Amino acid sequence: MKKTAIVTGAGNGIGKSISKRLARNNFFVLIIDIDDRSGKKTVNEIGKTKSAFLKADISDEKQTASLFQAIIKKYKRVDVLVNNAGIIRDNMIWNMSSEDFDKVININLKGTWLMCRESAKIMKLQGSGRIINISSRAWLGNRGQTNYSASKAGVIGLTRSLALEMGKYNVSVNAIAPGLIDTPLTKKLKKEVLENLINSQPTKTIGNPDDVANAVAFLVSDKTNFITGQTIYVDGGKSIGAGI
Ligand code: NAP
Repeated sequence: MKKTAIVTGAGNGIGKSISKRLARNNFFVLIIDIDDRSGKKTVNEIGKTKSAFLKADISDEKQTASLFQAIIKKYKRVDVLVNNAGIIRDNMIWNMSSEDFDKVININLKGTWLMCRESAKIMKLQGSGRIINISSRAWLGNRGQTNYSASKAGVIGLTRSLALEMGKYNVSVNAIAPGLIDTPLTKKLKKEVLENLINSQPTKTIGNPDDVANAVAFLVSDKTNFITGQTIYVDGGKSIGAGI
């Protein structure tokens, strides 16, 4: 029987690339997205024998609870959870509404926590599992992203604490912190903002969603049984900070 992997925000960008990679690596991939159209498109691209779409807003507690009930009923187990869904609502703090603060925290941090909680219950009983949380290099700090940085710093704290709780159940919990990656999310940036960001990279390049998918494939492989609670940067060296 194929192992089951859940990927949130899998209708677009990094989540779509991770899903395709896991399907190629022989997982049956459950594509979770708030948007029907893009979620179903991902399934069409991967194929219905290797993936299925389940619609959910990961920030909604009732929806995540019923999502996992449906998953366990039909697929019996959860081998991998990739918490990828996330949003930005950027602004300098003096122009940022508390609604935009709440929205980002609710999806990026609380949504990740809700998905972790439901998966942890199942993986603890199974005595196995891998959880990968997509944070961001921006947790180290970015102007205009007080809400986003806080949410992604929270994801790293959550990852480390959950790794402590799940270690004895043979469940690893790790985070990936991508830098600038070419996705629909970064396409929303103004051209000159994007050019400046690329120029500030040590590599002077923008990453590809597959760069993140490769790190996920590594973390779910059987080569990483002794790695937990860690954060892998996939950022072209931006997190080094000095000397750019
Ligand atoms: P993206 O292209 O915007 O894709 C995110 C997907 O998540 C979209 O399909 C989106 O649906 C879905 N989504 C949003 N809110 C959701 C919710 N409440 N429940 C379920 N699905 C939801 O973003 P991306 O660039 O691939 O980013 C993926 C992850 O990587 C995010 O966590 C992001 O913070 C992180 N990241 C990205 C970059 C980058 O440079 N791109 C860098 C560092 C970290 P809609 O389109 O309908 O909103």
